[in-house]
Amino acid sequence: MMEKTPKSMRIHIGLFGRTNVGKSTFLNLVAGQDVAITSPQAGTTTDPVEKTMELLPIGPVVFTDTGGVDDATGLGDKRRERMFAALRRVDVAVLMVEPERWTEHEERLLREMESAGRPHLVVVGKTDLRKPSDAFLARLRARSPFVVESAAAPGQRDRVVHAFKAALGQLLPESSLQMPDLFGGAVPPGGVALLIIPVDMEAPKGRLILPQAQAVRAALDGSAIAVVAKETEYRAALSRLSAPPDLVVCDSQVVDRMVAETPAEVRCTTFSILLARLKGDLTAMVKAARIIDDLRDGDRILIGEACSHHALEDDIGRRKIPRWLREKTGKELQIDVVAGRDWPADLEKYRLAIHCGACMITRREMLYRLQTAGGRGVPMTNYGVAISYLKGVLPRVLEPFPEALAALKN
Ligand code: SF4
Repeated sequence: MMEKTPKSMRIHIGLFGRTNVGKSTFLNLVAGQDVAITSPQAGTTTDPVEKTMELLPIGPVVFTDTGGVDDATGLGDKRRERMFAALRRVDVAVLMVEPERWTEHEERLLREMESAGRPHLVVVGKTDLRKPSDAFLARLRARSPFVVESAAAPGQRDRVVHAFKAALGQLLPESSLQMPDLFGGAVPPGGVALLIIPVDMEAPKGRLILPQAQAVRAALDGSAIAVVAKETEYRAALSRLSAPPDLVVCDSQVVDRMVAETPAEVRCTTFSILLARLKGDLTAMVKAARIIDDLRDGDRILIGEACSHHALEDDIGRRKIPRWLREKTGKELQIDVVAGRDWPADLEKYRLAIHCGACMITRREMLYRLQTAGGRGVPMTNYGVAISYLKGVLPRVLEPFPEALAALKN
């Protein structure tokens, strides 16, 4: 479906840099396949080449590999003109450089990016062949907000791609990172979303929490019908409908009850899974949840909450998830909780991160957290995905999202 996203709706990323600096190799690394022609011969890519791809979780993008020009100081060359025209079309410009090489050419490209007002980052290619000095990296960081060290050596791909996506997530306008439909197309216009909302100790008095209100609003925006009930009235609500709902959505804490009471032909999920899709990367979070089966004694788990809400006696992050994790695995786990804007710098000491639904932070910030964790080799899931996994119902609540379901099964 994403392959059909029109080019105009994709995020445009331009790769700029001198001949044979490694742009095509970097593009292949990001794409995970040989999409650009790479060659040790200088200048294999001569003219701008466009490649569309799905860069999860950023979304559909088009890369423009601008081809190599070794000297941008002289004007008049058609290739050079096309390169600067491409610069004006892109949403984000990537300047590729080689370790220890910054000449008038790189300076000119960066100045063009600045004067065109384009968000930009620098990628240092070939760092597996030559390590850039601290002084060189410091000089780049003084000029551009993000510097990614790229290497094509085996085992480096995940680190490079995570760092690149984290930088993109910070550079792109929030509006371009928004996924438009909370229900992921599962509730058509005129369709029915049945929302199960417990009203317990943790529910704020007199109002709905943000994801629940967002779901009601998403149904209205999509000209669909929202039916709302507590878990105790769920069966009654189902029986009063003249046709099955298109989607049932429940709070994660009652997911096992909801699954038990939902007819097999009715699709169902949780608010937290909808949020994982909306704010982060559902497929990556599903893969991360599988780590739970491999946890060992002494593993550290990070529980991350994006706001410092008042912790109740049987709080979901501090009490329930740790308890369910220990019950399911039978392991001695060390569990740390961070709340609010804190996001640990020493992420690598964790085996797994479990994040809240992130309703109070932007998609940009959630993507940053996801990518920094991934870049340190720490899989990150979210509360709802982890709870459904722990309760053995994750395959059932992923049925509305086949890609994520396939990631769980494979
Ligand atoms: S940001 Fe996280 S912790 Fe705060 S209310 Fe939303 S889901 Fe809960």
